[in-house]
Amino acid sequence: MSNDAIRLHAVTRRYGAGGMSVTALDQVSLAFPTGTFTAVMGPSGSGKSTLLQCAAGLDRPTSGTVTIGGTDLTKLSETKLTRLRRERIGFVFQAFNLLPSLTAEQNVALPLRLAGRRPAKARVREVLGQVGLGDRARHRPTEMSGGQQQRVALARALITHPEVLFGDEPTGALDSQTSREVLTLLRGMVDREGQTIIMVTHDPVAASYADRVVLLVDGRVNGELIGAGAEDIAARMTKLEASPC
Ligand code: ADP
Repeated sequence: MSNDAIRLHAVTRRYGAGGMSVTALDQVSLAFPTGTFTAVMGPSGSGKSTLLQCAAGLDRPTSGTVTIGGTDLTKLSETKLTRLRRERIGFVFQAFNLLPSLTAEQNVALPLRLAGRRPAKARVREVLGQVGLGDRARHRPTEMSGGQQQRVALARALITHPEVLFGDEPTGALDSQTSREVLTLLRGMVDREGQTIIMVTHDPVAASYADRVVLLVDGRVNGELIGAGAEDIAARMTKLEASPC
């Protein structure tokens, strides 16, 4: 059995054809061990979003394979891929994407309802408790701060016990204090629950909460930093942006 929650092998994603084609990802191979927190960084246009979308089964690589818990996503039909995304993957985005007319607990229960499952109230309360919102279950998004809304979004992502949680700039819309609270929560999920997290960010402070920072340049893995602090990450990013090779 592999200890990797997810693996990318020689993933290439090309957009367009012929002379006009763009290679957004070029032969990327990466393994994300279960229970680890990885940040993906790189200059604008380096392929971060494409990597996230291919890894999460939202986009299909032109070639190469993506394996989650032994399942090769690139071989799945659309129907099976949709089911896998729903049942085995969680997402948090920069925009919280909560439904404004639903309460926190209804928003959190939504992925289960969409999957045709009846949400157990105790489970909904449990995940809201995990993100520190046990007392806000009946509140609507407009009655909550940005940080609280992102925590509801996090609880919604965790309700299905996803094998991998993907974050796309999850703290991009939050002030620095609130960002730190959300990042501490993410870190705790890795440390206490063994959650696997992959997060795209351009914020060195956010990336410093991860175990590892994967650096992308021109669609290729340029290197990685293990257990680095925000200052070291920022210095490396400055260097990358100044001279990408
Ligand atoms: P990042 O997230 O690091 O900014 P992206 O993954 O969005 O990078 O983009 C990587 C490269 O692929 C860029 O050159 C971008 O212009 C190109 N690209 C991304 N999406 C598309 C698309 N749908 N069609 C054509 N080119 C795209």
